[in-house]
Amino acid sequence: MFENLSDRLDSVFKKLKGHGTLNEKNIDDGLKQVRMALLEADVNYKVAKSVISDIKERALGQEVMQSLTPGQQVIKIVNDEFTRMMGSEHQGLNFDGSSLGSIMLIGLQGSGKTTTAGKLALYLRKEGRKPFLVPVDVYRPAAIDQLKKIGQQLDVPVFESTTEMKPLKICQDALLAAREQGCDTLLLDTAGRLHLDEELMAELKGIKQGINPSEILLVADAMTGQDAVNIAGSFDKALDLDGVVLTKMDGDARGGAALSIKAVTGKPLKFIGVGEKSTALEAFHPDRMASRILGMGDTLSFIEKAQDAVDQKEAKALEKKLRKNAFTLEDFRNQMKSIKKMGSIKDLIGMLPGINKKQLKGLNIGDKEFVRIEAIINSMTPEERRVHTIIKGSRKKRIANGSGTTVQDVNKLLKSYSQSMKMIKKFNKGGMRSLKNMLPF
Ligand code: GDP
Repeated sequence: MFENLSDRLDSVFKKLKGHGTLNEKNIDDGLKQVRMALLEADVNYKVAKSVISDIKERALGQEVMQSLTPGQQVIKIVNDEFTRMMGSEHQGLNFDGSSLGSIMLIGLQGSGKTTTAGKLALYLRKEGRKPFLVPVDVYRPAAIDQLKKIGQQLDVPVFESTTEMKPLKICQDALLAAREQGCDTLLLDTAGRLHLDEELMAELKGIKQGINPSEILLVADAMTGQDAVNIAGSFDKALDLDGVVLTKMDGDARGGAALSIKAVTGKPLKFIGVGEKSTALEAFHPDRMASRILGMGDTLSFIEKAQDAVDQKEAKALEKKLRKNAFTLEDFRNQMKSIKKMGSIKDLIGMLPGINKKQLKGLNIGDKEFVRIEAIINSMTPEERRVHTIIKGSRKKRIANGSGTTVQDVNKLLKSYSQSMKMIKKFNKGGMRSLKNMLPF
């Protein structure tokens, strides 16, 4: 899924990361390549053009964040814009609070409707609902049998449709039968055709009017690329879809349909099929998918955490103090708080690509350690926080008592702080590049 696009983007970003600063020229060059990569992934031409222009506008107007390199910033913007293009947030199924919900699955023959009906039954059951499978394709006896078999395998009840019944009547009777059997969600597996045709549309419209389903989901084959997007557009015009399920994403290395369907049709991609098995269904989360495409889910969460935790003004003030070697224990504690907001240091560093996990062994600063350090510093007087050398034996004991720690803990902290100060001095001599390098660990 998305392998080609991921590979292409990876090489674009590698190049961007090589630039110390970004200007209009190198951003333009990079974005030209991103655009090419999108078109190669079979993304709709207009969608690609518009997303690139949004990325460029943001990349040029962006306030420079000290905690990120220019390359990282562009990746972050591309990630945000891809997320937006795919619909921002995951859209779930609507049940309008009704006690008996119904999901009408529509789509061309072979798109994966029947398989998806089974997958959704399993998904809904995990969500605590009681699904009821309803074969509505009366033109193909094999389709009815196929759904019955899926129902048996999953132990989900299936309505006893026959080829003599009219589709609308099946749906109406199935509503009653579902209630009788204690089910609360109907999955209507409607008939498909090889091509869109008027007769089929009329039948589907009739069912829609007759039973007013809580959700109309189009099932489309991702491997057909932009055809899937066009089909979604046509079905949407006729039936006003609530959402789309793209199947066979496991076999689609390009991903153009998934990337453009929301932007072109305005309708959200709610689920993706990623295999033939009943469990191979994923709720579609645009943000997670964007990170997956960029091949850097973890790095992006790192960047976001860093953005949340490091207040830029605070960072500047701190940097000034560090330069003047005036970084007190109080600053040390405040910086700890920022770091704590980011979670365990070890986890954070472990998220960065290229980090050898073995190297992290010695880095054992857990949350408990933070609490202890904070408590110790809180038990000091303001003067002691400014000039730590005045803390002698008896005061160490009082501080340890006040913070519920031991004298050894206090000594350990003071030692670690002194070492940090030495490191800072060294950095100051050698020229300090960013706050990131100044963490006292
Ligand atoms: P329908 O005619 O729309 O009901 O389509 P089916 O449910 O019968 O599916 C057609 C074919 O696509 C079957 O061979 C399914 O196993 C296969 N299929 C459906 N969804 C997926 C999927 O997400 N991944 C893969 N690899 N195959 C799928």
